[in-house]
Amino acid sequence: MAKTIQGESAVWEMVIGLEVHAQITSQAKLFSGAPTAFGAEPNSQVSFVDAGMPGMLPVLNEYCVEQAVKTGLGINSAINNVSVFSRKNYFYPDLPTGYQITQFEHPIVGEGAIEIDLPDGQVKTIGITRLHLEQDAGKSIHDMHPTKSYIDLNRAGCALMEIVSEPDIRGPEEAVAYLSKLRMILRYLETCDGNMDEGSMRADVNLSLRKVGETKFGTRCEIKNVNSLKAVQQAIEYEALRQLEILENGGTIDQETRLWDPVKMETRSMRSKEDAHDYRYFPCPDLLPLEIENSYIKAIKETLPELPDQKKHRFMNDYGLSLYDASVLIAERARAEYFENAAKGHDAKLAANWVLNELLGILNKNNIPLEDSPVSAKQLGELVGLIEDNTISGKIAKDVFADMMETGKDAGTIVEEKGLKQVTDTGAIEALVDEVLAENPDNVAQYKSGKEQLFGFFVGQVMKKSQGKANPAMVNQLLKKKL
Ligand code: ADP
Ligand code: MG
Repeated sequence: MAKTIQGESAVWEMVIGLEVHAQITSQAKLFSGAPTAFGAEPNSQVSFVDAGMPGMLPVLNEYCVEQAVKTGLGINSAINNVSVFSRKNYFYPDLPTGYQITQFEHPIVGEGAIEIDLPDGQVKTIGITRLHLEQDAGKSIHDMHPTKSYIDLNRAGCALMEIVSEPDIRGPEEAVAYLSKLRMILRYLETCDGNMDEGSMRADVNLSLRKVGETKFGTRCEIKNVNSLKAVQQAIEYEALRQLEILENGGTIDQETRLWDPVKMETRSMRSKEDAHDYRYFPCPDLLPLEIENSYIKAIKETLPELPDQKKHRFMNDYGLSLYDASVLIAERARAEYFENAAKGHDAKLAANWVLNELLGILNKNNIPLEDSPVSAKQLGELVGLIEDNTISGKIAKDVFADMMETGKDAGTIVEEKGLKQVTDTGAIEALVDEVLAENPDNVAQYKSGKEQLFGFFVGQVMKKSQGKANPAMVNQLLKKKL
């Protein structure tokens, strides 16, 4: 689906803003020392603070503050020297305190922006409104017993960063590109593992439609519970068409919170949109305002790794890679590192081709993560080196590579053991050329009388006689001379 949809009366444009909840990679919770490991026995990671026992006091986990600042810097945002924790009051069985501690009027991170890469090669900037720190709620489990619900508080109190985008996103492709880039940045920074299937990164999608050319935004709906890139795309496509139908029929959109049902593939109403006053936000009396100094921010800035977009531009400038190749290589930090190690001292473009087309191809096909690759970056670099200095042809290199993947042996060893060295000795190739020409007098005659397309046949015959080892450029040259 494009950014616009054609209705009967008008062309409509989608306006989308995303609220992403990213769980901070921290071993302890935001306000307690309880552990956060995924998949633990229910209610085995709960402190008195998380369980909302009377008189318990929250203590801010400084490590989480550091991760939020790091993330803020990674999304080019302003860091606020003063931020305030508030209580967002509501009743829910998996929220034993009766309120969630979050940041409301004064978040730790203010405005910023990230670049997204669109499938057609375009780059677009999406504004970030804010990033704030908050605690997660527990989990209600409704499907383990026919008449009872269970509560697991392991997740209660885990540290979340809520990252809110400006309504700059148009259409499902841009939404997916935004989430992919954001996840990539979080993973580069190691502030969140970005695993959407484990719930450590989740998105709420806000969507409205307006007629193309209109400057005012329409009324939006917020879709909760959209937990994969595919679901984000599908939910947007469904919801846009639902709103289109209402608007085209002269109706109005009710501002409400809707739920994405991945099985029925539809959104449905959950509740009409609550207003801030329903939550009676007020500053949490248990926690002082959070003050951070510029020197603290500066020290964190110095620890930032090279970020995906910087890396992408460097790969294009320094190695002459295309935007597409650079984008695929930087998609994961480990992949980019692998490439750079393989390219060290070699033809970088050739190394990039080998990583992208051969290595990742085989690994993906066999479901092997790059970390477990039987061929190390250094070994792949050596193989590239053998092609560069004409020890082997690109074609033989593919066989050698297949062998390396299977045995883990070095390229040089395999070439040696199997006698695959390219023949670059003029005399030896000339002898093969002579043999082929002598064995095919009819073809030679036809070629000489003008059937030039036979040239490829002669090349093929000579290559075959050399078992693929003759240097192809030399074969071409000698054949031309003799014919
Ligand atoms: P709330 O606090 O009620 O959730 P916000 O104003 O913080 O509302 O906005 C939440 C998200 O909704 C943001 O990502 C924002 O970009 C997006 N948004 C706001 N207005 C619209 C709109 N008319 N259409 C689509 N998205 C919108
Ligand atoms: Mg919201």
